[in-house]
Amino acid sequence: MKVLVINAGSSSLKYQLYNMENETVLASGRVERIGMDSSIVTHEPPGKPDVTQVSEILDHITAVKKVIDMLTHPEHGVVASMEEIDAVGHRIVHGGEVFKNSALVTADVKQEIRKLFDLAPLHNPAHMMGINAVETNMPNVPQVVVFDTAFHQTMPNTSYLYPIPKVLYRRHKVRRYGFHGTSHLYVSQQAAKYLGKPLESLKMISCHIGNGASATAILDGKSFDTSMGMTPLEGLMMGTRSGDLDPAIVPYVMNKEDLTLSEVNSMLNKHSGMLAISGISSDMREIVEAMGEGDANAKLAFDMYTYRVRKYIGAYAAAMNGVDVILFTAGVGENSNVLRKAVCEGISFLGVELDEERNNIRSKEVREISTDASRVKVLVVPTNEELLIARDTYAIVKGESK
Ligand code: AMP
Repeated sequence: MKVLVINAGSSSLKYQLYNMENETVLASGRVERIGMDSSIVTHEPPGKPDVTQVSEILDHITAVKKVIDMLTHPEHGVVASMEEIDAVGHRIVHGGEVFKNSALVTADVKQEIRKLFDLAPLHNPAHMMGINAVETNMPNVPQVVVFDTAFHQTMPNTSYLYPIPKVLYRRHKVRRYGFHGTSHLYVSQQAAKYLGKPLESLKMISCHIGNGASATAILDGKSFDTSMGMTPLEGLMMGTRSGDLDPAIVPYVMNKEDLTLSEVNSMLNKHSGMLAISGISSDMREIVEAMGEGDANAKLAFDMYTYRVRKYIGAYAAAMNGVDVILFTAGVGENSNVLRKAVCEGISFLGVELDEERNNIRSKEVREISTDASRVKVLVVPTNEELLIARDTYAIVKGESK
């Protein structure tokens, strides 16, 4: 069975085609600048040269058509015809409280996703355009939706409720949902497999640290708490997002600086975090480089960033009354030995002992970076959200309920 995984944004659409017999990627690529005058299509079929084209792609229907053209092209294509694609899996950011698992796309499911537009106004409408575009281009192909929030639906109400008037939860579903769920689930499964132990037997703290960052406490194989909240703004300090802050700052700053709601929202999401503190960049590579050159603001940004990761690890160890495994994943977590060292150095009281040599090894595989004597195992686990989406899609289409 071949499964096409799609991550549709408002002006971009990323894709990967999987052969599920051996879980290999047949091709991947992206369409960027949808709706703008010169859209860019990049198609990467392993074993063949990459293809980049500039063309006019005014909507998602045309973007999906272009993806199909690429996948079935006589030269750079990887399948003979569209009929070889058996199912399509979509990444959906917000599944609210309705979606506790992945689901086959039906009219009812689409309606439920539409109801969640308010909670994820930048993401869910774009995902829906992706679903509709596939429906138009591939009318007989089953589609599955996989939600970033679904894994966290197991959180107890002590974790997910905010201590504010309950009417806001009842009327408007104001609660914590958590994100990066597909990644936290995938890496926790990989970590358990690597350690040769059932996931249910391990108390894990998963640190997904990329442009966006979140930590998750995983107890009995389920998400017990996670740092992102009703939106992906809560929790850890991020590239351009503030993470946790005193909510009273919002009205105070709006008043003092004469800012509108949308301006303050943009300040906290796009102009805060590491970018704001360093004054240099939101990219960890540039921060580490500037720090190496003695830049004090870059060092402050790095120190605040790692301090906040440590605080969450401490909080989650307390929340679970212990921790067996701490894992790092995503762009920064997988690649920055400097960040991992800074985080782990400050938490030796938990029984964490980092092996510097192991920490410095670069690899695409799951690896242990703690010493053999370390009470807590520290792992680096490359994430692969697309593969988990493909697996869920395959299972649901084959009729194995998720
Ligand atoms: P992601 O959102 O998971 O794609 O992660 C993207 C982030 O990973 C980038 O913004 C970089 O800051 C970070 N990153 C990628 N490679 C490295 C590296 N070698 N060292 C430090 N950070 C990295």
